Amino acid sequence: MKNIRKREIGFHKPSIGKEEARAVFSVLKKGWLTMGEKTQEFERNFSKYIGAKNSISVNSCTAALHLALAAIGLKEGDEVIIPDMTFTATGEVVTYFKAKPVIIDVREGDLLIDPEKIEKALTKKTKAIIPVHYGGQPCDMNEIMEIAKKYNLFVIEDSAHCLPAYYKEKKIGTIGDITCFSFYATKTITTGEGGMCTTENDDWAEKIKILRLHGISKDAWKRYQKGGSWYYEVIKAGFKYNLTDIQSAIGIEQLKKANYFYDERKKIADKYIAEFKEVEGIRTIKLHNDRTNSWHLFPIFLDLNYLKISRDQFIEELGKRGIGASVHFIPLHRHPFYKSLGFKAEDFPVSEIVYPSLISLPIYPSLKKAEQNYIIENVIDLINENKR
Ligand SMILES: *Cc1c(COP(=O)(O)O)cnc(C)c1O
Repeated sequence: MKNIRKREIGFHKPSIGKEEARAVFSVLKKGWLTMGEKTQEFERNFSKYIGAKNSISVNSCTAALHLALAAIGLKEGDEVIIPDMTFTATGEVVTYFKAKPVIIDVREGDLLIDPEKIEKALTKKTKAIIPVHYGGQPCDMNEIMEIAKKYNLFVIEDSAHCLPAYYKEKKIGTIGDITCFSFYATKTITTGEGGMCTTENDDWAEKIKILRLHGISKDAWKRYQKGGSWYYEVIKAGFKYNLTDIQSAIGIEQLKKANYFYDERKKIADKYIAEFKEVEGIRTIKLHNDRTNSWHLFPIFLDLNYLKISRDQFIEELGKRGIGASVHFIPLHRHPFYKSLGFKAEDFPVSEIVYPSLISLPIYPSLKKAEQNYIIENVIDLINENKR
């Protein structure tokens, strides 16, 4: 063991530079702090970057998912199919409508939703599927869109991890009915908190725009522009989900760097993969060569038969060496809330096997080469020291 406690490598650090600071200062100086011109500029730039027709910003990906489900008209009693290996946001938004999240097991190699299991979970009440692009690798979108077409379902992509990525020739954000992105502090680009819906459907875009700001009619949006008037009409019970110009100013700068951030994460991922390839007792996520991976997360799977320590102990040992690690995710079905909806461990054999072995390692643009080498060295040392 080398350099114990000499280093402190955080699990994540956002990449915020002078450009973001300058952009925020300029908004503060100008004096228009909340949703306005900067937010519209961010949305325009986002549409251009993704190649999407409409981009509607909101204050989180959770809000984006909520409004996406509102846009497609989710109703009480409807069912929405979601994967077990995700953050609770994916499931909680379904319950906002008194609809039922139907949680299904993921695939063992890539932790993505399995189209075959989607078909088995369909009922007359199924209204939508929310595929989660786990860690940044897109789901089997062709198969999922085909099922949706066949059974008349909507596809709302939870793309909180997945910016930027391609599935075959298509950029994520242009495939499903509505795609939801996150700009939370740990995601691939950040505005502190924030989210975006992209959609090719103008009616849904309009509906989301109205709902994100108190249900105020579209013409009243103009009141947030130069020459707007005091008059507005409330046409729905909406929400207070808008982004601010302060956040959008950060987002505009982050978006300019999104490709650079991706290149840096990809280099880190490639190095982890190469270094762990021959290491017994550890495996990395299965990749598909018809899609790219945004590399929001770098998960590793420990071979618990090979090791005499548990995953929790492994993370603790990494912590003692100054390395921050995490777990994505505690499967939904294991949480008391989802248990209370009737989900049981025996219906999730894959996540039950995978979860106790899963660790997310640091992956972010500012992670230094020496830091990554130190992480790799220590992971391999720990494996060798704790062989059964
Ligand atoms: C982070 C995350 C969300 C929620 O994003 P927020 O912007 O924090 O609301 C949704 N789904 C997944 C899979 C996430 O990791």
